[in-house]
Amino acid sequence: MKTLKVALLGCGNVGSQVARILRDDAESLASRVGARLELAGIAVRSVDAPRDVDLPRELFTTDAEKLVEGADIVIELMGGLEPARSLILHAIGHGAAVVTGNKALLAADGPALYGKADAAGVQLSYEAAVAGAIPILLPIRDSLAGDRITKVMGIVNGTTNYILDEMDTTGAQFADALADAQRLGYAEADPTADVEGHDAAAKGAILASLAFHTDFDLNQVWCEGISSVTAEDIAAAQEAGFVIKLLAIAEKIGDGADGGVSVRVHPTLLPRRHPLAAVHGAFNAVFVEAENAGELMFYGQGAGGTPTASAVMGDVVRTARRLVLGGPAAPGSATGRVPELPMDKVTTSYYIGLEVSDQPGVLAAVARVFADNGVSIETMRQTVPADGGGAAAQLRFVTHRATEAALAATVEAIRGLDVITSVTSVLRVEGV
Ligand code: NAP
Repeated sequence: MKTLKVALLGCGNVGSQVARILRDDAESLASRVGARLELAGIAVRSVDAPRDVDLPRELFTTDAEKLVEGADIVIELMGGLEPARSLILHAIGHGAAVVTGNKALLAADGPALYGKADAAGVQLSYEAAVAGAIPILLPIRDSLAGDRITKVMGIVNGTTNYILDEMDTTGAQFADALADAQRLGYAEADPTADVEGHDAAAKGAILASLAFHTDFDLNQVWCEGISSVTAEDIAAAQEAGFVIKLLAIAEKIGDGADGGVSVRVHPTLLPRRHPLAAVHGAFNAVFVEAENAGELMFYGQGAGGTPTASAVMGDVVRTARRLVLGGPAAPGSATGRVPELPMDKVTTSYYIGLEVSDQPGVLAAVARVFADNGVSIETMRQTVPADGGGAAAQLRFVTHRATEAALAATVEAIRGLDVITSVTSVLRVEGV
C-alpha cells in the first residue's frame, strides 16, 4: 500500500488531537484512503513543552520549513498570520496539498493563497476554519453548487453565544456574563477578538466568499460586537418575543446596479421561534437559504480540540483520496464577481426602544417621523407606568425592511423630539 507523508504544523488544542487520530486510527484511515497516512513530524515552538497527547519526542521539530519540504500533505494548525502564511506558500511551492483551520489567515489573505494553490494545481482545504466540527463549507461549496444561495446567517462564535445566552437566561449584565465565560474557559483573558466580532467577521468573509462565488476579505465585513448589549436590551427583546444573537450574515440584496452582497456581523434580534434562537451555550449553527433547497440548518460544536480535529481529518482523508486516485485538485470556487453592498444600502428590519413622556400626542409625533423618513412600522408596543401620567412610558417598534440610511435619519429625528426622554435601543432584526 502506498504511503503519504503528513506534516503537522502545530500541536496545541487541535493539532494534538489530529496527531492522536492519525496514530490511533491509522489502520482504519488507511483502508478509507487507500494509502497509509504517515505522520512524518510535528513542528512546534518548543519540542519539550508538555502535550495533551502522548506522542514520541522524535516526531517533534522546530524546523517547520524542512518538515514541509518532504510532505505530501501539510496540516497547518499553528494559527496567526506568520509564519503560517509563509509555510503554506512553501508547502504549495513544493507541491504539497494543504489543510488548515486558520480563519484569521484566510480572511486576511485567502484569495492570494487560493490563487497560488490553483496555479500550482494543489488542494487547499479549510473546513475547520468556520464553525469547528460542523460540516458547513463543503455543503455550501459542493452540495449546493447547483443551487443559488440567497442568504447565510451563522452563530459562528461560541464565546459570544455563551455570553448572550447567559444574559438571556440569568438577566446578567455583559461584564458579569463575560467574567463567567472567562472563568469557565469559554472566553480568553483578552476577549477582544470574540466580543468585538472580529472572529465572527473572519468566518463571515469565508462563508460569503463560498456562498456567492466571490472573494470577500475581512475589510469588506461590517463588524459590530456585543460589548454594548445591555441586560435592559435583552429584557426588552424578551418582552417583545425576541432573543439577541451575534450573527454573521452574508446576503444578496437587490438586483442590477443597486444590488450586491452584504457581509456583516452584528447583534441581531431573532424571533424566539427561529431555529437559530434555540442555539444555546457555546454551540454554533449556520442557517442557509437557497432558491431551490429552501431553508437548511447546520448545528454542532464550533470549537474545541477534538471536534475541530474531526473537520481537519475530513479534509485530510478527502485530500489523501484525491492524491491516491490522481487527477486535478478541485479549483477554488470564486468564479464570479458579485459587488459588495455598502452598509448604508443594506435593508433590514429594526427594533427601536424609546422612553417617552406619558402625554397625549407622543405616539402620533413619533409615527410622523417614521413616515417622513419612509420607514414603515410593522408592530408597536406601548408600556405605560402603573402610576399613570407624568412618568416615562416605553414605546417599542419593529419596522419593515428599511435602509440603514433611512433608519439612521429616523433615529436622529426621533432624538430631537421634545417628548423623547431617551432612545434605549436600536437593534437590527432578522427572521420576521
Ligand atoms: P494553539 O493551541 O495555540 O496551538 C498552536 C500550536 O502551534 C502550538 O503547538 C505551538 O507550538 C505551535 N506554534 C505556534 N506558533 C509557532 C511557530 N512560530 N513555530 C512553530 N510552531 C508554532 O492553537 P489551536 O487552538 O490548536 O488552534 C490552531 C488553529 O486552528 C488556529 O488557526 C485556530 O484559529 C484554528 N481553530 C481552532 C479551534 C479551537 O477550538 N481551538 C477551532 C477552529 C479553528 P508550542 O506548543 O510549542 O507553543
